[in-house]
Amino acid sequence: MAHEKIELPYSFDALEPHIDAQTMEVHYSKHHEAYASKMNEVLAKYPDLADQNPEDLLTKIDSIEMDSADKKKFINFGGGYVNHNLFWEIMGPEKEIDNELVGKIEAKWDSVDNFKKEFNGLAGTLFGSGWTWLVENAQGELELYNLPNQDSPLSKGHKPILTLDVWEHAYYLKYQNRRPEYIENWWNVVKLVP
Ligand code: MN
Repeated sequence: MAHEKIELPYSFDALEPHIDAQTMEVHYSKHHEAYASKMNEVLAKYPDLADQNPEDLLTKIDSIEMDSADKKKFINFGGGYVNHNLFWEIMGPEKEIDNELVGKIEAKWDSVDNFKKEFNGLAGTLFGSGWTWLVENAQGELELYNLPNQDSPLSKGHKPILTLDVWEHAYYLKYQNRRPEYIENWWNVVKLVP
């Protein structure tokens, strides 16, 4: 049974002007579609895994039985599928992040501004393609880091909380080489209200 993309919770133009409609449409309908279908192609070879939640499979990636080339594909395409599903969900035209998380961020980074500065610095210096992650580690503490490609924090035993897609396909149509501007503007569609 194939896994479907989550439905986008808003229209392609809902995040304008920060993220333009054309980028959203290509990103969701083409890139995300490719991750979903290629993940399903790999899983179709493993009926006992195909019905399991892709998040669970990434969490126990080391122990699942899969040919190593297929496992690499699943890390890439299954990771792409899972990462983008979270990315679509955390954004929104009026999206505000809950107070409990903001409180935890302030406790660790002193202020939302400090947190954003560190997050933006990581996203701005990520070399190649990847994502910047806010996660909860196994001790329940918040952590910030970059991961390359479509690698998931789930495979490190971490719970993904917030994430920014820093692949060029996420911003290039509108921002070209102005990645810092994309990063800065992204916070308009993921609001951390102190
Ligand atoms: Mn992407």
